[in-house]
Amino acid sequence: MDLQLCLTEKLKKAVSDSSNEELYFALLELVQELAQQKEVQNESKKKLYYISAEFLIGKLLSNNMINLGIYDEVEQILNAAGKKISEIEEVEPEPSLGNGGLGRLAACFLDSIATLGLNGDGVGLNYHFGLFQQKFEDNLQMECKNPWIEEKGWLQKTEVSYPVSFKGFTLQSRMYDISVTGYQNRTNKLHLFDVETVDESIVKEGIDFDKEEIAKNLTLFLYPDDSDEEGRLLRVYQQYFMVSNAAQLILDECTAKGCTLHDLPEYAVIQINDTHPTMVIPELIRLLVQRGLEMDEAIDVVSKTCAYTNHTILAEALEKWPIKYLKKAVPQLVPIIEVLDDKVRRKYEDETTAIIDKEDLVHMAHIDIHYGFSVNGVASLHTDILKETELHNFYKLYPEKFQNKTNGITFRRWLMHCNPRLNALISSLIGDAYKKDASHLKELVKFRKDETVLKQLLEIKMQNKQELKRYLKETQGLELDENSVFDIQIKRLHEYKRQQLNALYVIHKYLEIKGGKLPKRPITVIFGAKAAPAYVIAKDIIHLILCLQEIINQDPDVNAYLKVVMVENYNITNAEKLIPACDISEQISLASKEASGTGNMKFMLNGAVTLGTEDGANVEIHELVGDDNIYIFGETSDQVIAHYAKADYVSKEYYKKDPDIQAAVDFILSDQMLKVGKEKNLKRLQKELLSKDWFMTFPDFQEYVKTKEQALADYENRLAWAEKMLVNISQSGYFSSDRTIEEYNRDIWNL
Ligand SMILES: *Cc1c(COP(=O)(O)O)cnc(C)c1O
Repeated sequence: MDLQLCLTEKLKKAVSDSSNEELYFALLELVQELAQQKEVQNESKKKLYYISAEFLIGKLLSNNMINLGIYDEVEQILNAAGKKISEIEEVEPEPSLGNGGLGRLAACFLDSIATLGLNGDGVGLNYHFGLFQQKFEDNLQMECKNPWIEEKGWLQKTEVSYPVSFKGFTLQSRMYDISVTGYQNRTNKLHLFDVETVDESIVKEGIDFDKEEIAKNLTLFLYPDDSDEEGRLLRVYQQYFMVSNAAQLILDECTAKGCTLHDLPEYAVIQINDTHPTMVIPELIRLLVQRGLEMDEAIDVVSKTCAYTNHTILAEALEKWPIKYLKKAVPQLVPIIEVLDDKVRRKYEDETTAIIDKEDLVHMAHIDIHYGFSVNGVASLHTDILKETELHNFYKLYPEKFQNKTNGITFRRWLMHCNPRLNALISSLIGDAYKKDASHLKELVKFRKDETVLKQLLEIKMQNKQELKRYLKETQGLELDENSVFDIQIKRLHEYKRQQLNALYVIHKYLEIKGGKLPKRPITVIFGAKAAPAYVIAKDIIHLILCLQEIINQDPDVNAYLKVVMVENYNITNAEKLIPACDISEQISLASKEASGTGNMKFMLNGAVTLGTEDGANVEIHELVGDDNIYIFGETSDQVIAHYAKADYVSKEYYKKDPDIQAAVDFILSDQMLKVGKEKNLKRLQKELLSKDWFMTFPDFQEYVKTKEQALADYENRLAWAEKMLVNISQSGYFSSDRTIEEYNRDIWNL
């Protein structure tokens, strides 16, 4: 196909005479057509439905062009006409259909499912304003809506529409599709359900709206504020709407292929991504009974169709809905959930595995475990903790259901697209096989002592840092020094991820520099994080970081040695710029708390060296790269779990005995801080640390400082550092989501 000709036909003029906007829409159309040609007709019998409340897909144009194999040629055509692909990319809005790692994982999985040629679609909701957009004002996080749906975009309206009934009213849905292109392979779909009565105009200031007008608000936001009952009920309405549509779609598609419903597990497998889609289990049972199956058979059929992925051991994140909410919103599910609970109670004495507990809370994960055929954790340590601690009582009942599937990332986006320089170097060294089979990256190891290659790696990192410098100058007016060490922590803001530990390090370093102890090389500490709007302490931590940014960057004694950057509105688009420019990857969650992490994998693949705790997939990274190519510190997960069991951690004691901790914590309420910050917020944060510090930052503080200093010292031996980078890249193949999806298919889906 002549791409040049196709493009000019769509543009009705020369490429060089077209605006970036016109080029974007022409390319969008071209990609849609090419993607459609790769949809598979006469489909195989069994299909996977990956149901998820989030799909953090990122911008799609470049990624689709890579997957369709036209990226290089399009780039040449554009360059020849004096156009830049990066500027055309800026026209595309980033869909904000996800929140963090869980949603990004779902997006990486869709890419790999299509790349491996598997028959599997995603199912979710079409949130009009997605997750909020973050703005900083007065060193505070502000939230506003993030409209991303445009007249002409990736969403395609379909004919599919279902009635979904709630107590007292019924909504008619509409399905929209986004094509999911596989790398040199088939096209699958992401199905996003919406309701036609949704009314964007009810959102006024910020992200506030009337939470009780379900027909108007249902698909406005992902994770609407759940700090009040209306907000929590809205989440129940959203979840049921998502799964009722999914269930109707699944039954329609399967019966069209000849399924009798008795044999549903031969036609469909449903992966339940975290507990948000759990109601698909009782909903499918309800629909099967409605269509003529006996209750017991319906339960049996559904149990053989559904598999559950657990993403967290944080108790507050395991969903438990009061039965009265379900009675209010979806009463038709209540008798079914009661039957499910009754069966469990008849079979097992253990109260801790019940579905409806004594306080009338419905434990969503318990439904998944009893009535699904597979339960998986997302990293080896995480699965071990599920088996031994968090879900131990379930593991005793169903040892055969439990399995590990260590997370992964798609290398098309997180290497080929975001780091073209490194990608080109790798293919010049080992050929292109790694793009389809990432285990080939191991072949890079033979260059670990090759000075030419090591210097090329350093040069690429430098160019990526310069590019990030330009980007942050343009977008946030910040001045970075590309010769400084770029130390980056980007992820959702949560106390367990311990951005506060990094912030305490920054204060410590600041005080050291003020005291005359200068670092060998300047350090740039970069953060990016959104905090949930109702998560007070998380927002206070953002406030602390923004205040530090202001104080430190304006202090002439210090700013030549230390800089703090808080990137506004952390999302996929800026992650793609930050990750290739990183020297030190901060993965410092409290051991046992980060189920896997995937940011850690993206950084490793892009030649950053991890500074982290033995948590989540860091453990597996450590095993792969060895002690010399990672910086590990902090208490082990066993030690941490023991502290919680014995309740023996008292943060005040560390404060009293450690002058460095004392100085850093006191600084939070210093005159300098109060000049730029809000006393109420800073006081609240300081008090939280001194009276609770639930995620135990103080016990790890000294070792964190020491280990970071070691990394900074090692950085000065540039060739030795480049070797660490190379080893990390060469060992990262294991974290390709292609490997993860092969395992899901082999052990769970059997497509
Ligand atoms: C990868 C990614 C995440 C997950 O990061 P973790 O460090 O694993 O928590 C969150 N947000 C975005 C935008 C990402 O790309």
